[in-house]
Amino acid sequence: MMKTTQCSIPTKENERPLIAVLPLWDLERNSLWMLSEYMSAIQASGGTPLVLPFDISAHEAERFARLCDGFLFTGGQDVHPSVYGAQEIPGGLVTCPKRDYLETTVLQAALAADKPILGICRGLQLINAALGGSLYQDIPTEHPGPVHRQGKPYDVPFHTVTLEGSLADLLGQKTLPVNSLHHQAVKTLAPGLVPMAFSPDGLVEAFERPASRFLWAVQWHPEYLFKVDASSRMLFRHFMDSCAKS
Ligand code: MN
Repeated sequence: MMKTTQCSIPTKENERPLIAVLPLWDLERNSLWMLSEYMSAIQASGGTPLVLPFDISAHEAERFARLCDGFLFTGGQDVHPSVYGAQEIPGGLVTCPKRDYLETTVLQAALAADKPILGICRGLQLINAALGGSLYQDIPTEHPGPVHRQGKPYDVPFHTVTLEGSLADLLGQKTLPVNSLHHQAVKTLAPGLVPMAFSPDGLVEAFERPASRFLWAVQWHPEYLFKVDASSRMLFRHFMDSCAKS
């Protein structure tokens, strides 16, 4: 007589943290897309990435928050000033309401479930705006000074940041050369966020939210630096370690 047994044998693969990646939106093609650097950095750090869809409900966001072990908020278009209750300044903004809606919805669900969160570039700006901070909509107009938008290649440092707090502790250093591809920046930091890095012209380039299990965000792009920079690998690895504890 045949005997069937249901057994689940844990493998290394299914012990890997499942990381929800907030999708990119191509305004010209009207299409979801993704940069391979985010995916490969997660995979090389021991996680399994999963790109989320657009147009999900709050309930679906809560489902993903239960399912996934961590959330990566990616780079991209400008955050619309309506997210932080400001009027749009004339000229120059490229916004994506689809992303603002998706990301504020998913952020709320991920925070409620206390899942680890890493924000990169726009991800940092969106998290700050959604939590009650504000942004410089256009750095050259509102915070003139050194340029924060380098050209290609993106895997070379462009300016330094001074490090503080948990990020300085993790990396064991007080300064860090980083790349810089951003058009917007933190103007006022949201309540509950603590800065971890500053650019030479005084912009907040990284923060954490101590009330969360893990919520870190950086203004630079560690996914582009991943292959050439140990600190970027340490940052992703630290995020993945936090996700693995769930
Ligand atoms: Mn910068």
